[in-house]
Amino acid sequence: MSCSEMPQQPALDFVDEAGKDINLAKEMQPRTPSAAPAETRNGGRVKGNDINAQGLYRPDYRILTPNMRSPEYVQMSTAAAITLGVLPGKMYRTSCTRCLNLLLTYPEGCRANCAYCGLARHREAERDYADRNFIRVDWPAVPYDDVIDIVAAGGDGGRFHRMCISMITHPNSDADTVTVLRRWTEKIKDIPVSILSNPTTMQRQDVQQLHDLGAEIFTVAIDAANPEVFDRTRGSGVQSPHSWEKYWSVLEDAADIFGPEKFGAHLIVGMGESEHDVLSQVQRLRDMGGHSHMFAFFPEKGSLMDHLPPTPRAQWRRVQLARYLIDYRGVRLEQMRFDEAGRVVGFGLPQADLEAVIDTGVAFRTSGCPGKEGEDISACDRPYGDSPPSDIASYPFKLNKKDVAKVRRQLGPCNC
Ligand code: SF4
Repeated sequence: MSCSEMPQQPALDFVDEAGKDINLAKEMQPRTPSAAPAETRNGGRVKGNDINAQGLYRPDYRILTPNMRSPEYVQMSTAAAITLGVLPGKMYRTSCTRCLNLLLTYPEGCRANCAYCGLARHREAERDYADRNFIRVDWPAVPYDDVIDIVAAGGDGGRFHRMCISMITHPNSDADTVTVLRRWTEKIKDIPVSILSNPTTMQRQDVQQLHDLGAEIFTVAIDAANPEVFDRTRGSGVQSPHSWEKYWSVLEDAADIFGPEKFGAHLIVGMGESEHDVLSQVQRLRDMGGHSHMFAFFPEKGSLMDHLPPTPRAQWRRVQLARYLIDYRGVRLEQMRFDEAGRVVGFGLPQADLEAVIDTGVAFRTSGCPGKEGEDISACDRPYGDSPPSDIASYPFKLNKKDVAKVRRQLGPCNC
């Protein structure tokens, strides 16, 4: 069954702040995290109330959050819950998602503190983990056995092309990822699994074990596109435990163990890095045999960067297009041209060829692990995970002519 396009009112063009073309490093500074009161730390509130979970839990910060823990419980994106049929709802212009994105859950939550992330530790005073928004949406919690039973019985109507286990920074997440993967592969044979890893707690043998248990693709959310932005947004700058070196080291292990086309990395555009920085990492990944999965920065409500501007569309479109050319059209970074601020000013292709690529619209769709539609079409379409529907950054569906025309306007003139 396909995800059908839903008729909706046309969305208005989004207008970036006058003349704004790029998010500069000097303006993209996170707020300083404040310490949470002792009683709210490490899931203290949830464990103290110790409410029994009963089936589906819909995030609601006005009621006491049940005590839920993986592997018995997992959270899933709102789009996945709608597609699975455990939550009613409609999405703008698409009826489903192709990827069952699962997130490990614990009352203690993620112990890291990434500045752009809604799941970060600094929120423990304000909101229990299972109630926190993440990539702009709620993540309902569902008993994992129920998820497997529904999918095994064909309850998704064949719409899921992939399942993904998102680890978080928690002492149990390595072992629980193994359990969640093992239980899936025992019962579900036709939906491959990706791992969105947490390198900080992992060693090479953990990567090997996930491969040997049947994970198909291994990904690392590097997110920040240079070491300074990494440290500022998810390292010592925000009292978070991650390091650039460790992330790349685990990615290199994944390249060895999973092999070409079977590993990748997330990168967020617009956190103060240059376009050249991002595309250097894209080329590095391609040279290793992997792919990059791109996100436009969006000021996630409640995060340490929620006061900052989203990525200007011109910047985002340039990077999307250049990344697609490197990943799927054999163009190299060295063939592209950049200005003194690192903006792409030449894509390394003759104008007619570039126009033909833009016309297909594929470069502007959500990027991620593939499904059954094509190697360059992501199953992980994350509807509205990096923008509202009124200002789509990553298109979770095939672009129509009007969409392509809008992207062209956002891209602006280019001297290729
Ligand atoms: S490790 Fe992942 S889930 Fe945890 S705060 Fe960082 S980005 Fe969010």
